[in-house]
Parts: sequence; structure tokens; C-alpha cells
Amino acid sequence: MTRWLAEYAWLPDHAEPTPEVLIEVEDGRITAVAPLVGGGTPTAGVEVLRDATRLPGLTVPGLANAHSHAFHRALRGRTQGGRGDFWSWRDVMYDVAARLDPDSYLALARAAYAEMALAGITCVGEFHYLHHGPDGTPYADPNAMGAALIEAAAHAGIRLTLLDTCYLTATVDGAPLVGAQRRFGDGDALRWAERVSGIAPGNDHARVGAAIHSVRAVPAEQLATVAGWADRNGVPLHVHLSEQPAENDACRAVHGCTPTRLLADHGVLGPHTTAVHATHPTSADLALLGESRTGICLCPTTERDLADGIGPARRMAEAGSPLSLGSDSHAVIDLFEEARAVELDERLRTRRRGHFTPADLCTAATVAGHAALGWGDAGRLAVGDRADLVTVRLDSARTAGVPPVGAFHAATAADVRHVVVDGRTVVADGRHLTVDVPTELRDAIEAVTNR
Ligand SMILES: [Zn+2]
Repeated sequence: MTRWLAEYAWLPDHAEPTPEVLIEVEDGRITAVAPLVGGGTPTAGVEVLRDATRLPGLTVPGLANAHSHAFHRALRGRTQGGRGDFWSWRDVMYDVAARLDPDSYLALARAAYAEMALAGITCVGEFHYLHHGPDGTPYADPNAMGAALIEAAAHAGIRLTLLDTCYLTATVDGAPLVGAQRRFGDGDALRWAERVSGIAPGNDHARVGAAIHSVRAVPAEQLATVAGWADRNGVPLHVHLSEQPAENDACRAVHGCTPTRLLADHGVLGPHTTAVHATHPTSADLALLGESRTGICLCPTTERDLADGIGPARRMAEAGSPLSLGSDSHAVIDLFEEARAVELDERLRTRRRGHFTPADLCTAATVAGHAALGWGDAGRLAVGDRADLVTVRLDSARTAGVPPVGAFHAATAADVRHVVVDGRTVVADGRHLTVDVPTELRDAIEAVTNR
């Protein structure tokens, strides 16, 4: 039994944090959550408090990064200064993709996931499509690259949902994969399913999910194969959707409908599906997503970096889609920044303030993200949930004087002081306990870039 005493804690369904909350943890689960003040009677005796470890600042549930491409961390600062658009950025990204092997992928992902742990992320959804050797030949273990990611998350001390991605074609009209893309492909969706069925995480920290890269990469007649595999196995299904207007135009030209309509017609949408980005939906698309309770993962810092546009977050939520968050290309790994961007981008579009409450932003960053990744027992400071505790300083230069309810509008990843994942301390006093994060990031990135 471990006892923590949070100066403030953000409890489920609360509009703002609660002061002085005792949290008891046993075998990686929360066994008691007891506010010490309010309601009249203290619920814990003095002797109980004496052995509790105090957590100064605001403790929130574990943050879930619902959309990640770990290897994109190598691109930070190397592409932002240039001109161009999503497509020219993608060419640079493919250069790094071409250089990775299972060892260098492990080193880079381990460092990137450890950076996530420092940022308070306790679970990551890795949208993984770097499956095979550079020319498309499978490794001796056809899941060697996925295994590297699972091992990387274990070293970093966070949970992982390996969203193994089906990626078969280069364009909506079925052009074959070329260049760096060749290593993404399994040939067809049946062979993808056969390979993915061979992954056995073998550890409680990792689970397997499915992904359709996009309507560009999986032919319409094979979408149902991937969706059916996810459904039969009861795992989450993710899909990049309408990140760029060009994808919508190409889909209309080939299939006579929007990408969302195409996914709906092939059984891809539903409450276990998460559409990533959905930056350029029509009103009918929003209705299809909302009515099917398809989740939407917004990645605002990537969408701004790649000049994608601003997704209509308020309309998505009103239509019925739960919203989660992802750092995607890792131009920034900071879920506080992703969360407030959902509100702030909506302000830029509408020239009005106040579309999402601070509690809404906390929900998107925590319980909604975990749900999107298939961890329905994480993301809340509640009895029975996984014991993920993320404590944010309220005494840094950024957060001093900030009321606890304002943390999602003021704090940054650098303000995360303490991180507990499944009851185990991973970050203490702002330091990762097992990974020298800056050194490992530098070395791993140097190994796969030109300098
Ligand atoms: Zn992505």
C-alpha cells in the first residue's frame, strides 16, 4: 500500500481541482481517493497521513498521447524553418524512415517515449507503419519493428497501444508503394492481419490495436478486412482522416464521396474507432462521425506545424464525437499545449472565447485519450482505476500564482514534477529515473540523420 497526499487533485466529473486529497494505491490500482477537507469530517486519521508522500502542486490523471509516430521526433527543428507544405515535409520524413532498423528504432523510440514520460504522458498510441526492411523485405521476425516499440515503452516506463497500421497503396486510386514507402506494405489486408495476429506483447504494459493509414493507403474493398479484424479482436481502430483537402478531392474523384463517407460505407466508423485529425470534414461527415460515436484525435501542434488547417473541434464534440489529443509528429511533446490549443484555435476561427471548459480539456488529455487507446480503466483518479498520477508544479516561473483550475492554460510539459504509472514512480522531481533523456535523444537522432 502506497499513500500519496495531493495538494490538489483533479477528480472525475469535477469542474475544478479539489484541495488535499489522499490517494491510496495497491498493486498498481487506486484503492481509495479521499478529500481531507470539505464535507465536514476528515476521512483519514493522523497516522495514515504521516506515512503519505506529499505531492505539492496539482495532481491530474495520467495523460494519454493518442497519436504518435515515434520516429518523427528526429525531425524536430529540422523541417520547421523551411517553406512548403505537408507534402514537402513528408519527403523529409521519408528520408528518416528509410534509415531506421530495429535497433535504431528502439533507441529513438525509447528516448522519445521517455520524453513523453517527463511530460506526464503515461500511455501512448503508436501509429506504426514502419514494418519491414527498407526495400519491403520482411525481417526474420516480421514484427521486429513493432517489438522494438513495445520494448521502448517498457524501458521508458509508460504503457503503449501498438496501432499496427495497414498501408498498401500510395494514392487513393491504388498506385503502388514506391521508395521509402515500400517498407510500410504487407501486400494486402489479409496478409496485414496475418502478420498482426502474430504479435504477442507478453506484458501488461502493451496492447495491440489496428490502424488504417488513410483512404490513400488502403483500397476501399480492403477497408472492411482491417475493421473486421479490429472488431473480432475487440481492439481500437484508428485512421488518419481528411488531414488535407487534397485527400478529400482525390477521394471524391475516385469514389465519388468524401473519405468519411467511404469509411462509413465500409464499416470502419463506430465507438471503438478514432479518426485522427478530421481537419477538413463536411457537415455530413461530422454527422456521420458523431452519430456513430467515432472518436476524433486532434493534434493541434502538428496541424499548425504542417499548415493543415484548424479542425472544427466544437462542432465535432456537439455532433457526439469524444475528443482526444496526440502530439503526432512531435514538433512539440506537451499535452498541455495540445489541450489549450483546442480551445485557442477555436477562438481564432470564431473570434469568440469559451468553447471548452478547463475540465473538458483535462478530459480530452486523460480519460478520453485512454479510452481511445483501449484502456478503459485508466485516466481517472478513481477507485479501481490504474494508478497513474501526474503532478504539475504550481510554483514554477510559468505557474506561480496560477489557480489550480488554470493549469491547462498555463503549465507546460516542463512543469511536470512527478509521474506515477501503474503505481510505479517513473519521474521524480522532474527527472526520469532510468533514462538520461536529453543524451539518449541526441545520440538516437544523430544516428539516423545527417548530423
Ligand atoms: Zn499521424
